[in-house]
Amino acid sequence: MIKEYDVIVVGGGPAGGQSARNLSKKGYKVLLVEKFQSFEENNFSSAGMTLAPMTEFNLPDSVVGSYWENLGIQCTKELYTWKGKENKGVVLDFGRLRQFLADDSKKHGADVLMGHKYIKKEYKENSVITHFQDITTKENLAYKAKIVIDATGPLRKVMYDDRKEEPELVVATGIEYLIKVKKEVYDVYKDTLFFFLGYKWAQNGYSWIFAMEENILKVGSGKLYIHEETKEVRSMKQLTEKVIYEYLKLNKDDYELLDVHGGTLRYSTSIKDTFYKDKIVAIGDAISTVNPLGGEGIRYAMQSADLAAEYIDKYLKNGKENFEGYRKEWRSKNLLSWQLCELAARRVYTKYSDTQIEDRMRAYHKVSDIDVIIASLFDFKFSKIYKRVGLLYYYLLSNRIKNIFKKKTKKQLRKKKIKQRK
Ligand SMILES: Cc1cc2nc3c(=O)[nH]c(=O)nc-3n(C[C@H](O)[C@H](O)[C@H](O)COP(=O)(O)OP(=O)(O)OC[C@H]3O[C@@H](n4cnc5c(N)ncnc54)[C@H](O)[C@@H]3O)c2cc1C
Repeated sequence: MIKEYDVIVVGGGPAGGQSARNLSKKGYKVLLVEKFQSFEENNFSSAGMTLAPMTEFNLPDSVVGSYWENLGIQCTKELYTWKGKENKGVVLDFGRLRQFLADDSKKHGADVLMGHKYIKKEYKENSVITHFQDITTKENLAYKAKIVIDATGPLRKVMYDDRKEEPELVVATGIEYLIKVKKEVYDVYKDTLFFFLGYKWAQNGYSWIFAMEENILKVGSGKLYIHEETKEVRSMKQLTEKVIYEYLKLNKDDYELLDVHGGTLRYSTSIKDTFYKDKIVAIGDAISTVNPLGGEGIRYAMQSADLAAEYIDKYLKNGKENFEGYRKEWRSKNLLSWQLCELAARRVYTKYSDTQIEDRMRAYHKVSDIDVIIASLFDFKFSKIYKRVGLLYYYLLSNRIKNIFKKKTKKQLRKKKIKQRK
């Protein structure tokens, strides 16, 4: 006899974990399946974000690696910093976050199966039979569910049997070193979410230094848009090590390398993914919830899990497959912001020269305090910063026009004087 569940969630990332947590809390019989044996094994995400997700998803302090209050952006020439007087965000411990979500799901009655990989699905009598393989023994297992959630992130393993069915996807990729440094090095970065933009320290994306607890830093580099390179191509490993050796000025003996991890994101421009098909609901990066400008994805993966849970709840109660509402609701809430971010990402990461990046950063730095910059980078409220930059340019332009007039009148006066003298 095949064991039966209301919902099988495939993938124990932030989307899958939140979804299992949510649906088990509602009283459904849930199975959460993750292919890795432990969440420490694929600890790939830098997991930086604002404070908002902590309350939005009722997350405990135990998942926090560190808090940050300042933002820093190092361009090729200058460093721009925005100082905060209190905590503005967190860097989560990604392993602990996913462990917490799985544990909380268990607490509410869900089963959690680690070290099992999704293989295939088939349909029988209004149910989905889902097949998994134990990654160590290679033994195959099958479970039955009324509905299956594809939370396998960029792989989208459950939704598409054939890769050709996937929408066109843009690939972004990143690598991160977890390093233990001396206290005096750690103290410089411990309160700051620190990014690098521009060709010197990054390429077609950005690099970063995020602090974790106990003298541990996350140093990484990501390419957000991979396109035809015009300049010399440097690997993300090279860029990350450049930051460590040349920016942090560390020698090999000055730090301990604790872990190297990384990951790939696959994003559909304008969110053209399939959200629901034949009792499969996709959430998280499987429907391109990661933000295309900053690569922030945890918050949105979890938000999509919450929204999908509302529709799954209705389906399990009344048996009506109304998932078009889920797709429409998600897109109407996020599509415009995501498209603006796509546009900004293409410009910043692939088109702008270093000078253009530096000019823009200087202007943003002049007109915005930390809350305004956070509102645009994390909440996509671009109008605030653009209004201020617009006013700055208006002020500069009107001063320039005034100066031209002043020069003109001076010239005219001089001409007049010369005429009078004649
Ligand atoms: C280098 C890097 C840095 C990042 N930094 C940040 C950041 O600072 N802040 C932020 O908010 N976001 C960041 N992100 C993005 C964020 O991590 C993702 O958007 C988020 O993890 C998406 O969650 P998800 O649950 O949809 O997918 P994932 O986290 O990818 O989870 C999918 C899960 O499914 C499992 N799985 C896959 N295939 C199978 C299978 N066949 N069977 C069973 N299980 C399977 C995987 O092992 C994985 O655990 C970063 C991403 C990368 C790559």
